[in-house]
Amino acid sequence: MQSFNFTGLPTRVVFGDGTLAQLANEMHALGSSRAMVLCTGQQVAQGQALMKQLGSMAVSLFSDAAMHTPVDITERALAQLQDAHADCIVAIGGGSTIGLSKALALRTDIKQIVIPTTYAGSEATPIIGETQNGVKTTQRTVKVLPEVVIYDVALTLSLPVAVSSASGMNAIAHAVEALYAKDANPLTSTLSMQGIQALTDALPKIQLNPSDKEARSNALYGAWLCGLCLAQVGMSLHHKLCHTVGGSFNLPHAETHSVILPHAVAYNASAAPQAMQQIANALGTSNAAQGLFDLAKALKLPTSLKALGMSEEQLTRATDLALANPYWSPRAIERAGIAQLLEDAFHGRRPAAT
Ligand code: NAD
Repeated sequence: MQSFNFTGLPTRVVFGDGTLAQLANEMHALGSSRAMVLCTGQQVAQGQALMKQLGSMAVSLFSDAAMHTPVDITERALAQLQDAHADCIVAIGGGSTIGLSKALALRTDIKQIVIPTTYAGSEATPIIGETQNGVKTTQRTVKVLPEVVIYDVALTLSLPVAVSSASGMNAIAHAVEALYAKDANPLTSTLSMQGIQALTDALPKIQLNPSDKEARSNALYGAWLCGLCLAQVGMSLHHKLCHTVGGSFNLPHAETHSVILPHAVAYNASAAPQAMQQIANALGTSNAAQGLFDLAKALKLPTSLKALGMSEEQLTRATDLALANPYWSPRAIERAGIAQLLEDAFHGRRPAAT
């Protein structure tokens, strides 16, 4: 076996059905008694329900969390946090709400209990991305890692099918890139394969029946595993493309992951044969890139950048952006290959068998 390094991350995870009932106990265990609840405008009913559930243990509700953690929103939330003399955060929602929670912890070291309701995986990572003046910067620091994560499958039943599928593909992307990461290790590879397998099995079942608790449970479990992979090892070509291209052309986050992933995998296929085999096995197919494309199609997700609103004229700039930031990838980054990758993704072509 190859040598490797591994650092365990100290988050307590409570997983199950109806686990939200344990929230007050988790606050007590942290020594907290004054929570500020965070959510988005779309999930304000869930935020209010938490306020009610916690009674006098909740002192404030902030319901303006937004995609990509804009700093001006964080500053408003910070002022409210200080006015309320809160001693912990309870964040309910997807990566956007959890991003705001992390941004507040970055500035104050306040304790966080997060309750994820999508499959994006941010709750498992010490990574925070923030946006200011249209520029997103990302950093890694354990200061933002939540103390407690409560996964309650009951809360995911309301996640619309299209969002479930897209955010599930976002999770799969973390695991896929962890398999060919420079710093991959046996544990993250095992987690990756199990994560991909759980989501591949669950997402089509959720599409047929969004209330299928067993499938919802598997998807949430898979999302956690994939988030752990993102937390542990460095991401590569795919994530960089999603951030630069998605960010610059204001494309929807999770859907961009779903469109780009098969093409980023096809690009790297010849340079990472073992990872390709592992991905294909986990997907239950013979070819990793084609399997991911077919999964996205079966889930009725958009498969082209065109469908996400990008124009063909933007492809040259997208290629420039992708080449501007040097980053590690199993196959060296070169212009003709990246231009081809983006063109294939633009038109939504099924990757060729390699
Ligand atoms: P999101 O948090 O923006 O959620 C999408 C929408 O769905 C929101 O309006 C939300 O309120 C709503 N929603 C969420 N759960 C719901 C539910 N159960 N029922 C009904 N509606 C629900 O989307 P996301 O994909 O979870 O997160 C994307 C953001 O997370 C991006 O900003 C991305 O950069 C970030 N992210 C960060 C990391 C990290 O490690 N730092 C990892 C993954 C994603």
